[in-house]
Amino acid sequence: MSPLTQAAGGKASSAPIMGRDAEPTIFELSQPGRSSFQFRTTGIQAWTAEEMFDARFLADSKVPLAEVSERDLVAHVTRLSHRQFSVDLGAYPLGSCTMKYNPKICDTIAGLPGLAGVHPGAPAFLTQGWLEIMVTLEKALCEITGMEAATLQPAAGAAGELTGLLLMRAYHEANGDIRRRIIIPDSAHGTNPASVTLGGYEVTTVPSDDRGCVDLAALKAVLGPDVAGIMLTNPNTLGLFEEDIAEIAAAVHDVGGLLYYDGANLNAIMGVVRPGDMGFDIVHMNLHKTFATPHGGGGPGAGPVAVSSRLVEFLPGPRATEVDEGVFDWVMPPRSIGRVHGWHGNSLVLARALAYIEIHGGDGLRRVSERAVLNANWIRRRLSSVFDVAFDRPCMHEVVLSLASLRKEHGVKAIDIAKRLMEEGFHAPTVYFPLIVDEALMIEPTETESVQTLEALAQAFEVALDDAINNKEAVLAAPRTTPVGRVDEARAARQLVQTFDAR
Ligand SMILES: *Cc1c(COP(=O)(O)O)cnc(C)c1O
Repeated sequence: MSPLTQAAGGKASSAPIMGRDAEPTIFELSQPGRSSFQFRTTGIQAWTAEEMFDARFLADSKVPLAEVSERDLVAHVTRLSHRQFSVDLGAYPLGSCTMKYNPKICDTIAGLPGLAGVHPGAPAFLTQGWLEIMVTLEKALCEITGMEAATLQPAAGAAGELTGLLLMRAYHEANGDIRRRIIIPDSAHGTNPASVTLGGYEVTTVPSDDRGCVDLAALKAVLGPDVAGIMLTNPNTLGLFEEDIAEIAAAVHDVGGLLYYDGANLNAIMGVVRPGDMGFDIVHMNLHKTFATPHGGGGPGAGPVAVSSRLVEFLPGPRATEVDEGVFDWVMPPRSIGRVHGWHGNSLVLARALAYIEIHGGDGLRRVSERAVLNANWIRRRLSSVFDVAFDRPCMHEVVLSLASLRKEHGVKAIDIAKRLMEEGFHAPTVYFPLIVDEALMIEPTETESVQTLEALAQAFEVALDDAINNKEAVLAAPRTTPVGRVDEARAARQLVQTFDAR
C-alpha cells in the first residue's frame, strides 16, 4: 500500500470518503516534492532566497507545508465541503441566528474587481465610488431604523453593542453625568451583558412577566439617576414583540437614560415599525443576519450602529461623508469616540447589504419581514398540537418550544430532539436559549423557506417526537447518519486540540 492510500485510511485517495471515515489532513496526503503548480522555464536566472534577503531574516529550517498536487488538493477540499451542512444545502432553522438563504447576486456584486480589489488605505479621491456606496448604505439603514446617522465600522453585532455602550458613556460624560448601570431583560442575548461589562458598566437584570415581555413594574423599580440606559431586543429573544415599548422608553428617558436597541434580528420588523419611532437612541444591526451575508463559522460580519441626532457627534470615525454635491471624503465627527475597526469596516459585507437592499426596495424589505413572521407563525401553529410552545401567542420571526414535559415523562431532552432532526436532513434548531425557558428549542424558519419545506420540517419534528416516545434509544444515539456523531461538548471545550503536528 502506498503511503498516500495508507494515509487515506486504506482507500485510494480519489474515492469519495463517505460516512464516518475520517478525511486525512492535508499533511497526511503530503508527498515530498509534489506541488500544485509548475511554471515553464523562461531561461531567466531566478534569484535564490539567500541572494534576495539578509541571512538574518531567513528561517533556520524549512517551513512544514503540505506538498500535494492540485488534483489531490481540490479533491480533499471538495470532500471536506461535502461533510458540511450549509444554508445552500437545506433549511437551517437556528433561532436567533437567522441562517437564511442569501441571494448569489449579492456575492457577485461584492466580488466585482472594482470593489473587492481596492486597498482600504487608498485615498478618497481614488475611491469615490466606494465612499458613495457607504454613504448610500448608511442612508438606507437610517431610513429602515428611523435614525439620524450610522457608523459602518463595527465588525459584528457584539462589536456594535460595545460601540453603542461607548457612545452612551461619551454622551453622559459630555453632560458631566457619571452613570454606572445598564438595564438588561433576563431574556437578552448573552452578548448584551458581556458588552456591558466590557464597556465598564454594571448589569441590572429585569425579569420577564408571564407574557414573555419586560415586567414593567420591575423595570420601574430599578430605574434611577445612575442608570445609563437600557438594552432591549424587540422582538425579544422569545420572538415576541415588547408591547409596552412606548411606556418603557418614556420611563427610561425620564431618569435621563438612553435606549439601546439590539437590532440583530431586524428581519422581523423592516418596513413595518422603526426603532427610532419607538423612542430608541442607538440601534445596532447585524448585516450578516438580515442583509445577505451568511454567518457562523467565524466569517466576517458587520454590525453598523445607527443613532439619534443627539449622539451623531460622538460616532466612530472617520466616516464616509458627502462633503459637496457628488463629492465624498472621510470626516471625523467632532467628539468622536475614535475608531472601532482598523479600517472602514468589513466593506464587502457592506456592499452585499446595499445590493440586497437595492434589489428588494422598501416594499420588498417589508415583504421579507412579513414572510419571516408568517413562516414562524405557520410553524408555531403546526407544531403547537404536539409540542408545548413557551408563550403560545402570535410570535414575530421565531418561536420557542419548551420540551420540559418530554424530559420529565420520557427522559428525552431538547438536545436529543435537535440531534435527531439532523438525521432528517435539517440543521438543528437553537437549544437551551433563551435561558428563561426550560428545555428551550428555538426555531427560526426565516422568510426564504417555502411552505413545502416548512411542512417537511414539521414532519421531521413529529418523527423525532415519535422516536422520543417509542424508540428512545434511537434519539439518544442521534445523529447516526452524519460524518460526526454525538460529541462530548464539555470535553471538546475543555480539551482543545487545535493543532496537527506535521513532523
Ligand atoms: C446574533 C445576535 C447578537 C450578536 O451578534 P454577533 O454578530 O454574533 O456578535 C446580539 N444580539 C442578538 C439578539 C443576536 O441574535
